[in-house]
Order: sequence, then C-alpha cells, then structure tokens
Amino acid sequence: MSDKPIAHRSIMDIAAYMPGKSKSPSGQALAKLSANESPLGASPKAIEAYRNYATHLAEYPDGGATALREAIGAVHGLDPARIGVGAGSDEILHLLAQAYVGPGDETLMSQYGFLVYPIVTNAAGGTCVKAPEKDLKADVDALLDAVTEKTKIVFLANPNNPTGSYLGEDEINRLHQGLRPDILLVLDAAYAEYVNAPDYEAGINLVNRADNVVMTRTFSKIGLANLRVGWFYGPAHILDVYNRLRGPFNVNGIAQAAATAAVQDEAFTAELEAHNSKMRDELVERLQSNRFKTYPSQCNFVLTEFGDEAGFTAADAFNLLMEKGLIVREMHSYGLPNCLRISIGTEAQMKLVIQTLQEMSDHG
Ligand code: PMP
Repeated sequence: MSDKPIAHRSIMDIAAYMPGKSKSPSGQALAKLSANESPLGASPKAIEAYRNYATHLAEYPDGGATALREAIGAVHGLDPARIGVGAGSDEILHLLAQAYVGPGDETLMSQYGFLVYPIVTNAAGGTCVKAPEKDLKADVDALLDAVTEKTKIVFLANPNNPTGSYLGEDEINRLHQGLRPDILLVLDAAYAEYVNAPDYEAGINLVNRADNVVMTRTFSKIGLANLRVGWFYGPAHILDVYNRLRGPFNVNGIAQAAATAAVQDEAFTAELEAHNSKMRDELVERLQSNRFKTYPSQCNFVLTEFGDEAGFTAADAFNLLMEKGLIVREMHSYGLPNCLRISIGTEAQMKLVIQTLQEMSDHG
C-alpha cells in the first residue's frame, strides 16, 4: 500500500481557501453580524410550510422543483422554464463552472469580487483572473481589458459582496457588449432584495435579450440560509445543460416547500427590505459622523474602513465589538485587512454596534 496521500488538483488554490476560518459561530454570540443573514428570521409562512412538510420525509422530492419554479416565475414575472434551482446559489456557481470551464480555461472576476468564484473555477480545473478595481468598485474597462481567448465565464456580483458596490444599467450593458458571445456572463444577484437603485431590472432585461447571460439569486439573504436554496434565470440552452449536470434531487423537498412559501410572502420580503434600508442608512450616517469611512452599499451589510483617519485598526474594532458579543466579518481573506464587513442586524444590535464604535471614536 502506498503512503502517498491521494493527489487533488491545484493544491495551492485549495490550500489558500480557509474553510471555517471566518469567525461566524452560531449559538453563543449575542449578535452574529458576519454572514449577511436575515435579521428578522424567516417568513412565518415559510416556517409553517417547513413544519407541514414533516409527513413527506420518506418521499423523494420533486427533482424538477416545479412548484418552487412556478412560484418564483409568478412573483418575478419570469418564465419558469427558464429558471433553475440549486442547493444555494453556491451550487449553481459550481455547476456553471463545471459546465463551461475546464483545464486551461480562465474565468474573470473583479478584484474584490465574491470569494467563491476562484473556488468554483479551481474546482473545474481553470484559472480565475482578477481585474483591478477603483475605489473598491468593479471597473468595466479593466474587466474587458483582462478578457483573453481563454476566458469562458465572467462572474460579476451586482451588488458585490464584500464591498456592497453596484454597477448600473449602462455599465452592465457596456460590459456585456464588450464580451464575445461565447463568454458566459454570470450576474450574481444574491443581494437583489436589498438594492434600492431604480435601474436594477436591467440585469433581467439583459438575460431576456441575450443568449450568454444568467442571473443567479438566493433565498439565503431573505431568511432561509440554512436550507440552501438558490435559483437562476437564463437562456433555455443553459438550463438544459444545467439540468443534465445537477444531481437529480439537488434541492430537498423541505427547502422547496419553505422557499415556495417564502417567495410568495411578499409582505415579509418588503418588511425585510424596509428594515434593511432604514438600518443601513442609519449605520452609514453614524459611522461617517464618527470619522469611519464606509463604502456605498446596496446590500444588507456595510464595509467600513479603519486606519489613520479613524485612529484604530480594524483588528482593534473587531476585538472591541467581539467583547460586546458582536461578531462582524474580518476581511483578511479578501485582501482588505483594514476593513470590517458589518451585516445589518436588528435595531437593538445596530444600536449596540454604533454605540461601541462611537465610544471607540470618542476615546481615540
Ligand atoms: N453570491 C454572493 C455575492 C454571496 O455573497 C453569497 C453568499 N455569501 C452567495 C452568492 C451564495 O449564497 P448561497 O449559496 O447561500 O445562496
């Protein structure tokens, strides 16, 4: 028997990914503001659907997720035949990379784009290229400059995690027009519910008229992160490939039932959106008035920069917040060590965050 470990592909990149290193313990924290979850829990209707599903546990789920796709289609005005579902949008990103990227191929993302894009690219045997950003915002010219003949997918989180930045309709269209038609543009709209920009429908319009664009969405940010349900909208030929590649029962029946109820509970989603807008505006205003730099956010979190002007390091702020039971997200793994990403929580949690940082600022 050989004592050699089984070789896996691209050891450097796999080693660079640090699973479990983000400090997001659940349970003991007073406030977990590190994972951009819903501060208002799940829709009561989704919880009820989840409970009622218990009698079906012995059955396989509907592999086509018919009711869920129809509900998403009805609520968002989309053709259910062009909707695919996955175990979180992470799974969808993985499968799109498996479908369209192979050894020797490249994907392209913006420098401070979502951490999962290099992981899914690497898992498919490809290389993820990062285009530089200006002021922590995706730069369409830099992205287009970085396209090569090997580029297969361009991943763009709009708005982006962890920066919160947003590209409007003109920029998205300019990016798409600059890409060859054989490159897939993945518009990752994980934070769609929290966008206030009036031109956000542009992404859907683009999917409607283009053959090489998909938009991914998730239920994770509106109360169902634990159930792992994501979906995407795209052209029929991509749905066809996706449905052949995915596991036949990739989204379990409980998740389908709860997500169907959640998407139909538009009043709950509206409540979440309103809460988020109010809390996000307040947090930004209070941080800025205390000399902390914040980046414009269209998401359910705010990226805050520490350092010279604030008089503290991000590590100081992280530790002090942690002492108060407030867990926020450090940004080392994104290459932004001076920043913290603070998810929007309940009103009481946000008060405590503001109060803690204000005290720091007063004593600094
Ligand atoms: N895209 C972005 C930009 C995200 O921030 C996240 C969640 N952190 C995801 C996709 C994945 O979400 P999920 O797999 O929970 O649907």
